Amino acid sequence: MARYTGPVCRMCRRENQKLYLKGLRCETSKCAFERRAYAPGSHGQRRGKPSDYAIQLREKQKVRRTYGLLETQFRRTFDKAVRMKGVTGSNLLTLLELRFDNVVYRLGLGVSRSQSRQLITHGHFLLNGKKANIPSIQLRAGDVISLREKSANLDVVRGSVEAGPSRTVPQWLEFDAEKLTGKVKQLPVREDVTEPVTENLIVELYSR
Ligand code: SF4
Repeated sequence: MARYTGPVCRMCRRENQKLYLKGLRCETSKCAFERRAYAPGSHGQRRGKPSDYAIQLREKQKVRRTYGLLETQFRRTFDKAVRMKGVTGSNLLTLLELRFDNVVYRLGLGVSRSQSRQLITHGHFLLNGKKANIPSIQLRAGDVISLREKSANLDVVRGSVEAGPSRTVPQWLEFDAEKLTGKVKQLPVREDVTEPVTENLIVELYSR
């Protein structure tokens, strides 16, 4: 399972906004974007009018990096969104939101999507009572996420739940903080994605 292992903060600097990829650090003054809010590299502070293609590419990269996918996986998700009924851009966001690692993050059981992904691959979670260690699993309405008994007291999980107030659980999910379990109440719709995304630009890019 391939994943990006390079420097992370430069992605926020490249996309010119905070993508919250590093969990609690993102909320502190150590955030690289707070310190240097310009693109990385020696030409990072140069300004110029971006082309339409550049605007579309940046939007796609921003969304892809936010959800922690590599290009092939992102493209495959987009192709699936095209085959679904409805608006392709909204379908894409729904599919991304329903990824197992994203749901664990949204429930507040991981401080970032990458940490959630690691917790899943290390086998700490159960999906509908069965062990599930694949972060890309697409969840469905009614699915229940819980921690394995011996994982419930993990410091990383407790720390994330306690740091929770900075993130609220979206209305399409249900979270029981006592039992540390979550449920997908309903499928997320476009309005449930609060991050600034212009998904039409991604559709335009892949339609070229
Ligand atoms: Fe982005 Fe977080 Fe790094 Fe700040 S600390 S630049 S928000 S990943």
